[in-house]
Amino acid sequence: AQQQARATAHQPAITRDGRQVSVFANIGSIADVQVAVANGAEGVGLLRTEFLYLDRTSAPTEEEQLAVYQAIAQVLEHRPLMIRTLDIGGDKPLPYLRVGFPEANPFLGWRGIRFCLGNPEVFKTQLRAILRASVGHEIKIMLPMIATLTEVRAAKAILGEVQAELKQAGIPYDTGIKLGIMVEVPSAVVMADRLAAEVDFFSIGTNDLSQYVMAGDRTNPRVANLVDALHPAVLRMVKQTVEAGHTAGISVGLCGELAADPLATAILLGLGLDELSVNPQSIPAIKQGIHQLSLAESEAIAASALQQDSAQQVKELISTSVNRPG
Ligand code: PEP
Ligand code: MG
Repeated sequence: AQQQARATAHQPAITRDGRQVSVFANIGSIADVQVAVANGAEGVGLLRTEFLYLDRTSAPTEEEQLAVYQAIAQVLEHRPLMIRTLDIGGDKPLPYLRVGFPEANPFLGWRGIRFCLGNPEVFKTQLRAILRASVGHEIKIMLPMIATLTEVRAAKAILGEVQAELKQAGIPYDTGIKLGIMVEVPSAVVMADRLAAEVDFFSIGTNDLSQYVMAGDRTNPRVANLVDALHPAVLRMVKQTVEAGHTAGISVGLCGELAADPLATAILLGLGLDELSVNPQSIPAIKQGIHQLSLAESEAIAASALQQDSAQQVKELISTSVNRPG
């Protein structure tokens, strides 16, 4: 089966009845992108940029970031690269940016887009680097931890300022660059119909969405059982997000760990996701799983999953209904 997975890794992932799903990679370094391409990634659906900011005493400069984004984009050639802006805070404090003050509930605290909107100079430096790297590459900007429309509009205003400054200075960038958001906070799911009118794509972050929907810290082993992305409560939110995105005509991907869980592939296909972004090692197996499924059976499995009472029942449903040849 592994040999078969390797054979199909560099082909598009198409179900038996012809539905194509993009399979992208989640990466967090330049080394990762090589592995991703070698394993058949059709793009990068999540570049976690935190690695650029950690283990140092000051924020990376625009030039430093530009060099890294360009290096990654070059390995990807024509393939798309979704760069997520800094998602620091929560459990990842940055002492030099004074996010290190104690918070009683860091995951409910000053992280992701909240931190960036509070530190516009840090945010602008990153946006300038991303925009400059976008010349000749298919780069997209993705905002983490969006909870409100106000945050998206504030981020877009800052992006507009940076674009105007670059234009003024005669520095080239992709003027058609696409902007999307992570949907990983329950309020964003509930408001997804409105948010969809503001952005070009959604990417669902089930790691955080599960912890916020189930009210269970994703790093606390005592509640790990509760924080399960296969819980129907999470799956219903995925469905709501896909429907809101598609009604507005934008694409909806999923980049949480759930996308790399072979048990989840049929459900995610059936819920209508356009793209799955997974760790580079998982690409061949996920593509093979898609090849073996049909959209019709996946839709039936997804519909049934939404009607289960628990994550455990969803898992039982999958093990009895997914017909895996070989
Ligand atoms: C997520 O929350 O699902 C996600 C992909 O982002 P991270 O794990 O980096 O928070
Ligand atoms: Mg997240």
